Amino acid sequence: MEIFSLGFIFGAILGSFTKALADRSLTKVSFFGRSYCNHCQKQLVWYDLFPIISYLLIKGKCRYCKKAIPLEYLLVEVLMGVLIAWLFLQIIPTTFLTLSPISQSLKIIEVIFKSFVLLVLVSVFLTDIKKGLIPDRITYPAVMITFIYLVALTIYKSVILYFYLKNNTFGKFLLPPHSDYFFRHVLYSADPLISGVLSALGLGLFFGLIIILTKGRGMGGGDLKLAIFMGLTLGFPSSLVAIILAFLSGSIVGLVLLVIKIKRFGQTIPFGPFLALGSIMALFWGQQIYDWYLNFSKGSIF
Ligand SMILES: [Zn+2]
Repeated sequence: MEIFSLGFIFGAILGSFTKALADRSLTKVSFFGRSYCNHCQKQLVWYDLFPIISYLLIKGKCRYCKKAIPLEYLLVEVLMGVLIAWLFLQIIPTTFLTLSPISQSLKIIEVIFKSFVLLVLVSVFLTDIKKGLIPDRITYPAVMITFIYLVALTIYKSVILYFYLKNNTFGKFLLPPHSDYFFRHVLYSADPLISGVLSALGLGLFFGLIIILTKGRGMGGGDLKLAIFMGLTLGFPSSLVAIILAFLSGSIVGLVLLVIKIKRFGQTIPFGPFLALGSIMALFWGQQIYDWYLNFSKGSIF
């Protein structure tokens, strides 16, 4: 329960940042700097900055000009709160305090990184659904930060192993030149990096090809950059699961909209929101969905 509450509070705070990121990425306004009322431009005071609570206290109206603040602010804060609480529950075990400091640090690093991924995904979900855009101001830094994270994580794990072996009577003999044990484990630590880069290349090529073949109708450069981010963060097989879920949900929603005649045939709906949804599902359950599918397709029905 404590883990869930902690995650929810952290998520709700990230939620207000998510909304600001989505709004500001479509303008030239800096990502940093205090929030302000979109109507009267008055800067918010510190007690207006508590997520969810502040919104409820001022009953969804600006303290100064009384203009209604869109419900979207509250919804994004609650949504991020729930997602990140879930993430905390999935990653942080109840035995967290009894773990070694190194295991603890790895769990915290993972939770922070995945929270960042959710922040990016929910932001592009919002911008694409509202304006049909996936801003470079989000995807470029997101890809760069992810790449740096994956390299740093590989180095961190390798350095920990090196010093562990070096200070261990028997471990010394697993280091070069005695054995290739250490190098094999460095390669193993680099798995998320290698898998991420290869998946990013694969998805990049796949989306590039679709854009060329369809001459840019339906999918654009924004989707391509988001796909590269997905490959890098999710790796294999989760990024594949995310793409399949995106195409499945996209076609279902597309068909429904066509049937109820909101969209005419040939009109496009933005694909980014589906990519983001698929990625969020895959971030939580990518491996499980993949395993389930493999068991299913092996013919367990017969
Ligand atoms: Zn105002």
